[in-house]
Amino acid sequence: MPVLSDVITTLDSLWPRAWAEQWDAVGLVCGDPGAEVSRVLFAVDPVQEVADEAVAMGAQLLVTHHPLYLRGTTTVAADSFKGRVVHTLIKHGVALHVAHTNADRADPGVSDALADALGLRVTGPLVPAPDDPTGRRGLGRLTEPAAPLTFGALAELAAARLPRTAQGVRAAGDPNRRVRTVAVCGGSGDSLFAEVRAAGVDAFLTADLRHHPASEAREHSPLALLDAAHWATEWPWCQLAAAQLDAASERQGWGLRTEVSRLVTDPWTAQLPSSLPSSPSGAPN
Ligand SMILES: [Zn+2]
Repeated sequence: MPVLSDVITTLDSLWPRAWAEQWDAVGLVCGDPGAEVSRVLFAVDPVQEVADEAVAMGAQLLVTHHPLYLRGTTTVAADSFKGRVVHTLIKHGVALHVAHTNADRADPGVSDALADALGLRVTGPLVPAPDDPTGRRGLGRLTEPAAPLTFGALAELAAARLPRTAQGVRAAGDPNRRVRTVAVCGGSGDSLFAEVRAAGVDAFLTADLRHHPASEAREHSPLALLDAAHWATEWPWCQLAAAQLDAASERQGWGLRTEVSRLVTDPWTAQLPSSLPSSPSGAPN
């Protein structure tokens, strides 16, 4: 049976910490490097429900995409929700490891998993990593559907293939528009509009699109937009990451058992269609 430091070495080779943004906080958050590991849980968010799930399944390692602490802290007292997560994990011998922007930049990474969930073929990164001579790593991905489809069909595909959330998938664009190329970015992608427009793609699938960047992108080009729940765009990476660790475990003869959390940790829990009648132009009467 491997010890935690063996497994972390493997995870660091999949998503080297040096690939993370300067502001990010990746790597081991808590855990004893010498402790044995037999079960590993993958999840997007290190929230209390997920920590409880890791304890209930008897995991010794929880791997999440989002950091628990992004900035420095002076306390892990259990009277804060993050401190309570730390206490839960340590009390039950569960380590926490974070792979965030380093997993975004990896090949394969978070956006590859999102593209794969929709059956989109990746042709390259949207924003190539400057330190990668192969040109394969970077933020976001440029993709192509197996055959051109309408934007309406692409929106339906995203709704059908991504895990269910209260938000679902929002779409902006002509449903009859032919889509031959799609930029995808798991997580918040509205800082990438300049690169998306420069790439000349027909559609952009991401999360957390704000009013002004989305509105401006629509005014400047016929670019069609798909906005899914942040959690839903990153969850497919958990399956990819678990499969990558499974493969490493098989190579090493570790016999690890990996699982992916199916708890929906997107913060939004309901969506109601507004009912105040609008004028035909869309402005409220
Ligand atoms: Zn995220």
